[in-house]
Amino acid sequence: MIRGDKPSGYFQTHDGRGIKVEGESRQCGHCQFIWEYKPGSGRRYGLCTSCKCMTCARDECKADQLEKRAIIWHEDGKNYDCVPFDEWNYRLMNKAAHTTGTIGKDFLMNDSGIVIPRPD
Ligand SMILES: [Zn+2]
Ligand SMILES: [Zn+2]
Repeated sequence: MIRGDKPSGYFQTHDGRGIKVEGESRQCGHCQFIWEYKPGSGRRYGLCTSCKCMTCARDECKADQLEKRAIIWHEDGKNYDCVPFDEWNYRLMNKAAHTTGTIGKDFLMNDSGIVIPRPD
């Protein structure tokens, strides 16, 4: 994960007239949203004081953070200031590793992914 105000990536493209355009991008540490970094654009972003990541400050990202924090509070009784993307994925991976079931009986796998039947 890229922390602080450092470029997350660089890009190179061409505009409608074929002129090469280069720039750098930033990535949100909470939701992985990527945007072009333009100093002086007036667009405001955040720097999370908890995980020290740049954040996109989009409403859907803020809502997603609230939801993830509420889930962790509900499941573990722990209150975090934020849930970085990497940590949420690690949490899901740990959960999946401790889930037991039989393919075909407890869940199915098809082209759209894993299908888990609703509890009765
Ligand atoms: Zn975000
Ligand atoms: Zn954070």
